[in-house]
Amino acid sequence: MGKNFGTTLVPEGAQRLQVPRVAQLVEVQVVDDEWIAFVSEGELADLPDEFYLRELRHYDGDSTIQEIADLIEEYGQLCLDDFAEWSGDVFGNWEQRSIAIEKRIEYKKQYNVDMLVPDSLLHLWEGRPHLDYLRFLRDGWIVAAATGDLADYAQLFVDVPNGQPIESTVRHWLHALNAGLRVSHARIDHPLVQEEGATLFGASCIQLYNHIQEGARYKVCMNESCGRIFVRQQGRAAKDQRKSEGVKYCSSKCARAQAQRELRRRRSVAAQAPDDVILEAQREESRVMAMVALAKARREQGVPSLGATLRVKRLELALDDRSVRRRAGVDAPILIAIEADDFERYEGQHVHMERWLTALAELYGMDSKEVVARYRADRLLELSR
Ligand SMILES: [Zn+2]
Repeated sequence: MGKNFGTTLVPEGAQRLQVPRVAQLVEVQVVDDEWIAFVSEGELADLPDEFYLRELRHYDGDSTIQEIADLIEEYGQLCLDDFAEWSGDVFGNWEQRSIAIEKRIEYKKQYNVDMLVPDSLLHLWEGRPHLDYLRFLRDGWIVAAATGDLADYAQLFVDVPNGQPIESTVRHWLHALNAGLRVSHARIDHPLVQEEGATLFGASCIQLYNHIQEGARYKVCMNESCGRIFVRQQGRAAKDQRKSEGVKYCSSKCARAQAQRELRRRRSVAAQAPDDVILEAQREESRVMAMVALAKARREQGVPSLGATLRVKRLELALDDRSVRRRAGVDAPILIAIEADDFERYEGQHVHMERWLTALAELYGMDSKEVVARYRADRLLELSR
């Protein structure tokens, strides 16, 4: 466990920032499989709460042009075309920015447009790095908020071919968020002049900043079929009353779905004969004891832990956190917790552990039953202490 950066990142007395509204777009079209053309409508709209955490969850540097087009059509302009919000450090450097500029010059020639940099266009190479940056900022902070150390996120990249040293990952994280914030806050407006809309990138950085400022705790939705990371429950409650304390579900919809599932389960248990219930409980107890003994024996023999074993497998297969999320549905903060044998890092995480471990084992070509059995044994051993 590292130093607690959580309390020192934002200066004491710093205020929450107003999340700016985002310019809406219409007539969004994919052109030549690499451009998104649109008309800026001028209308401004609020971003949904926790947008960077929820809606952007599945976006990253591998997003397709169509995915990005759908995103901006629904929520608004993604980023500034001059990359002013993007510090350009770790994921692609200046190279990516110059490719995007070249592409704009090509576009100008091909379509014979006057402006050097038409602002009603977005290139794939502009959209992807911004989305990847938001992923990097989000995942980095979720981990830091749980462990107290921003450097813990960098564990993902240690020992990875071409991986970044920990200090530079932390430095890039800070540069990236500061660059995003620099553009987006402290502004003046006049009622006679159309207020300029923020971008999804800038507004997302502010949402994240506010979570850092308030010391928000991230949780995992305890609806068995959800597992999304969130801070406050969304749904029925009035906007300013959205709760974070004592909340288990990301939305009122998830709360209802899980309540119904549990009700069905209780009914089916109640329908069993009492003798069957007792027999099942006895079987379960002896199984539990055997598993705890097995977990103890493994530890005494110095067998590498489950998290360490999974980590070695991932590195052997050269899978980064994006591939793991896309192919096994396990988000980076969860993956980092699993690899650190921290199976209860986030509130609600344990509900999904078996599902996630099964998916990881399948992705890594391991025996998923064995992986889940090891997890159960380790967890029981921890709980029995
Ligand atoms: Zn949920």
